[in-house]
Amino acid sequence: MIISNNSVKNNRIFTQTQFSLTCWYASIFTGIISLGALGVYEAIAHAHYVTINQELKAVSGTFHDTLEPLLIKPNILENNIQEILPDLCLVNQKCEQNYHQSKYITKFIQQGKYYFQFFDLSGNLLGKAGIEIKGLSIIHQQEELINLKDKNNIRYRQISLLLHTKDNKQWGYLQIGRSLEDFDHYVNNIKWFLLLGLPLLIILVIIASWYLAKKAMQPVYKSYQQIQQFSSDVAHELRTPLAAIKATLDSIMMIKELPLKDSKETLITINRQNQRLINLVSDLLILSRLDSITENSYIPVKTDINLVDLVNDLVEELSFLAFKNNIEFIQKIKVKENLLIKGNEEQIYRLLTNLVINAMENNHENGKVIISLEVEKKEVIIKVIDTGIGISEEDKTLIFNRFYRVNKARNRDKGGSGLGLAIAQAIALYHNGRIELESSVNKGSIFTVYLPK
Ligand code: ADP
Repeated sequence: MIISNNSVKNNRIFTQTQFSLTCWYASIFTGIISLGALGVYEAIAHAHYVTINQELKAVSGTFHDTLEPLLIKPNILENNIQEILPDLCLVNQKCEQNYHQSKYITKFIQQGKYYFQFFDLSGNLLGKAGIEIKGLSIIHQQEELINLKDKNNIRYRQISLLLHTKDNKQWGYLQIGRSLEDFDHYVNNIKWFLLLGLPLLIILVIIASWYLAKKAMQPVYKSYQQIQQFSSDVAHELRTPLAAIKATLDSIMMIKELPLKDSKETLITINRQNQRLINLVSDLLILSRLDSITENSYIPVKTDINLVDLVNDLVEELSFLAFKNNIEFIQKIKVKENLLIKGNEEQIYRLLTNLVINAMENNHENGKVIISLEVEKKEVIIKVIDTGIGISEEDKTLIFNRFYRVNKARNRDKGGSGLGLAIAQAIALYHNGRIELESSVNKGSIFTVYLPK
């Protein structure tokens, strides 16, 4: 029975899980991106702020050193200061604001970002230069950088310096400020860029998260589908012998007095079906145990196995079946002494038995089955060769699947459940080995088992 792919994909649990995974991914990534954006914003703003501070300190230091040798009397602005600040405008003097060339720090003044204010020791304004500012006249006697805002809400970074005359008397204060308009404009642009870019990024993150969640769900879909397929196959396999037992019992119960001969035949039928059930359940148990090895919950004992002895035993045990099927059963042991490998003897025996029984059951009348044992540098090679019906290219990839039978009706009649090769492969894998298959239809097949030495 094939379970459709859609029934899984349309399953509500999977859609819900994919949705909740998407939400988790999206919220985590959005958090990370938002933090990253905030970090970028802070880093850029901080770097600019530091540069502005350094620039302001450099300008104020240069002015301080250049002006002090020119100051003679406290509280008096000498004329020669105009050489340094050409647009210096004294209080009560009407001045036009134009930035003249000066051999000193014109660069800063020309940029139109700086203002300079001179105050006497009592805090009265003596003169000013640079850009026009409105509503800023606070004197800060400490030489530290502060932020101020004018009437137009433009921010300024300002420093106040106590100046001394040539002969080291206190002269008055110089206040230098720098407009933060360009800085605020730049930082604002970045803020808007990030704020507008963020929703776009979040949309991309949601799309990527949906895709990632879908990718993450795929193996879960697949194994869920396999489990569903497996349960459905198990139910199907159990139903056949159970239905046969029930049908036999129903027909018997309708007969009032059952002759002893018929009752014996009935019991034989029931016993045969019961044996099928026992075989199926024990095969399922083996597979389930081999599956749990990978999850480390079941670890069968590994001992030294003498493969020569094991093959001899197997040939002895299955010779009767070969005889029954009119098959020539040949053994070719190409090793001189005993050949030891580490493994689980019972399982290796089961693996080879499955291959040999298949080779006999899928053979022609008077066909041949050869079991050979040889050894290479790192591997032991066991071949089971038959001259039977062969396996088509299409079936070669499928026969190791659980419950897969090439000819369903024929194999079921023989009592096969389609688990033999799946078990053989699981055993080989557990022993770090592999099974390879060569076959051509109507000529025969070679199953080669490689096991590490
Ligand atoms: P089963 O237990 O029913 O035999 P297996 O898993 O052992 O199932 O085999 C799966 C299918 O592979 C079988 O239906 C059988 O037809 C086919 N097969 C296995 N071995 C051979 C072989 N040596 N030659 C041809 N067909 C084979």
